[in-house]
Amino acid sequence: MKPLVSVIVPAYNEASVLEAFHARAGAVFERLDSYRWELLFVNDGSRDATQSVIDRLCARDPRVGSVQLSRNFGKEIAMTAGLDHARGDAVVVIDADLQDPPELMEEFLAHWRDGFDVVYATRIERIGETWAKKASANLFYRLMGRVSQVDIPRNTGDYRLMSRRAVDALLRLREQHRFMKGLFAWIGFPSRSVEYRREPRASGNTKFNYWKLWNFAVEGITSFTTAPLKMATYFGFIVALIAFAFGVWIIAKTLLWGDTVRGYPSLMVTLLFFGGVQLFCIGVLGEYLGRIFVETKGRPLYLVQDYQPARAERGDAAADQAAARPSALEVS
Ligand code: UDP
Ligand code: MG
Repeated sequence: MKPLVSVIVPAYNEASVLEAFHARAGAVFERLDSYRWELLFVNDGSRDATQSVIDRLCARDPRVGSVQLSRNFGKEIAMTAGLDHARGDAVVVIDADLQDPPELMEEFLAHWRDGFDVVYATRIERIGETWAKKASANLFYRLMGRVSQVDIPRNTGDYRLMSRRAVDALLRLREQHRFMKGLFAWIGFPSRSVEYRREPRASGNTKFNYWKLWNFAVEGITSFTTAPLKMATYFGFIVALIAFAFGVWIIAKTLLWGDTVRGYPSLMVTLLFFGGVQLFCIGVLGEYLGRIFVETKGRPLYLVQDYQPARAERGDAAADQAAARPSALEVS
């Protein structure tokens, strides 16, 4: 039996690009015919015609399956939903917008055959991305490398192949705040990278504006390191030392010269400065507290509105179930 490769495609308002994606990925599948393929689209609550395009592809191509989420949950969770439903011996996660060339899967699979559990794509160039985006991404990777215990490979997106055991390991991490780049790195296993040029989007718009990217960075840092919590401790310690020395100096000055009244500006400056520092540290605490709050609720990560397994891979219990109640709200 040929090994099954699942390709997970999270899609949010990607109606304009899915046909092109399917054509290009399909060509790759045809060429690499020593594998069976399952192309699983995860419709992350799109508001455009994405689902009807997916349905059309499902009807036309027995290798295509669809997971429709009940609303928009965000890319990280959409990917998780896809991984949950994938049945491949190897699973590839890829963006719908053709920024990740599907042709690279050939190389991924070669390395998988050589025994690597994780093969990820590293961008050597980002065509069509602004200078500011490149610089901020660079800064983020540098910072993460410094502060977190796991080594997150730089210039690496979500485009990657994982072996079945790597996927199973990843799926054991059910946290609500899913910083996938970090989770991918956390599981370990033999990994290697494949270099590629990241192309501009084939069609449609990016879903990640700067505010989202900033939140993404905060997510990464708070999910993988408690360094910001410690920052307050060290900062407070240093400031206390300086304040002590300063206090000694003021007392000495007052005793020696009786110079008591001046100093309003320095008072105001220190007051405001420490007010700011304290608010900032409370904010840092709040970031962590908020995450604990969300985590304690133990809600499911996502809800599936409709699941259609790839027809080519049907015949097992999951497929029968899905066929029996096509639009049941299924909890995962
Ligand atoms: N995406 C998603 N849910 C979201 C946002 C994005 O599933 O809430 C998908 C999107 O359809 C695409 C991938 O995530 O397949 C990457 O999104 P995008 O191209 O907008 O990000 P960028 O490449 O600009 O970082
Ligand atoms: Mg993109």
